[in-house]
Amino acid sequence: MRHTEVLVIGGGPAGLSATLEAASLGCGVTLVDGDLALGGQLIKQTHKFFGSKEERAGTRGFKISEILLEELENLKGRIKVHTNCTATGIYKEDGVVSCVIGEEKYFRIKPERIVMATGAQERLLPFPNNHLPGVYGAGAVQTLMNVYGVLPGKRVLMVGAGNIGLIVSYQMIQAGVEIAGIVEAMDKVGGYWVHAAKVRRLGVPIFLRHTIKEALGNRTVTGALIQEIDDRFQPVGEKKRVDADIICMAVGLTPTCELLWQAGCEMVYVPQLCGHVALRDSFMRTSLPDIWVAGDAAGIEEATAAMVEGRIAGLDAARSLGKGDKADLEKRLEELGRRLGDLRGGEVGQKICQGLACCSVQGWGV
Ligand SMILES: Cc1cc2nc3c(=O)[nH]c(=O)nc-3n(C[C@H](O)[C@H](O)[C@H](O)COP(=O)(O)OP(=O)(O)OC[C@H]3O[C@@H](n4cnc5c(N)ncnc54)[C@H](O)[C@@H]3O)c2cc1C
Repeated sequence: MRHTEVLVIGGGPAGLSATLEAASLGCGVTLVDGDLALGGQLIKQTHKFFGSKEERAGTRGFKISEILLEELENLKGRIKVHTNCTATGIYKEDGVVSCVIGEEKYFRIKPERIVMATGAQERLLPFPNNHLPGVYGAGAVQTLMNVYGVLPGKRVLMVGAGNIGLIVSYQMIQAGVEIAGIVEAMDKVGGYWVHAAKVRRLGVPIFLRHTIKEALGNRTVTGALIQEIDDRFQPVGEKKRVDADIICMAVGLTPTCELLWQAGCEMVYVPQLCGHVALRDSFMRTSLPDIWVAGDAAGIEEATAAMVEGRIAGLDAARSLGKGDKADLEKRLEELGRRLGDLRGGEVGQKICQGLACCSVQGWGV
């Protein structure tokens, strides 16, 4: 049985930030990530990020990941990293976490504190033939193109005009893929205007108030039927055929929260945060005194917020182990809380704040 002071599960921006803070206060940290490389979603993001200067707005996503990894390197004496290593179970009886490296190696670890930073999963849509090869989630398409350098196909129908649908469409165009169109069920584009303007300028049609009805093809996708819908999402008019060899779905993400359920954290369904999330206090501590949550696993937001939440969780987990100077930590946590508030100041932030009101507690009285 292995032991660690802090176990961080997930090495995306939230988990990396939590690791850095806990280790910088002197904790021994074990970081596990199921992927082959650390960085989470960041390693696929070739575009420049929005957000605040402190959270590196204007820097490309994969560069932010490189910066965090350099900082990790400076603290490597205190951090054990396992990639290709999935935390598969957490056991209430003894607080032990089971981890699988690759397909064969297995170990058990008993952490004193855990930060869950497991990110998000893509949502998919049910429609006839959605099992055909050629139907992808947008995250898979990004991984193929931006991590492995493989084009997903030649002509793509994108479903969803939020930021992810718009950004991935633009990245495919840059890589030489034709976008047949973007289908969006709402009556306006959900993503930032700047991302929509980029694809519109390149002549990509955005079909508002439309949905996909069926994928066409026998062995692989050859096209799709799309249809207009009314404001109650009921079909109107004729179905239209769109020729495409790829259907790419960008219809939202939901927090990856299985381990939080398994651990026995109090959970609540919050639509504004896109799924079930753990109740937490302002330091990201869950209802279990030794478990913290951060990033998309705590509710779908952005990498900027994930990094700040990760820092808060890492600092507070270390503080609970008696590390750091009390007054100094209070000051830093207060400052990070202010930064989170600033990031949530805009129009999108209003929805997040409504969601947070449903899952935030004043404190756990511990
Ligand atoms: C196309 C696209 C564009 C985006 N653009 C922006 C942008 O411009 N600005 C911005 O701020 N944000 C952007 N985001 C959002 C941002 O990428 C995410 O909000 C952010 O990555 C969340 O960070 P995270 O650390 O919580 O999760 P992730 O980055 O998803 O990392 C989670 C990690 O946990 C690991 N993991 C999960 N379960 C386990 C387990 N059981 N055991 C071990 N490891 C596990 C995964 O392998 C993964 O590496 C974008 C996202 C997408 C998809």
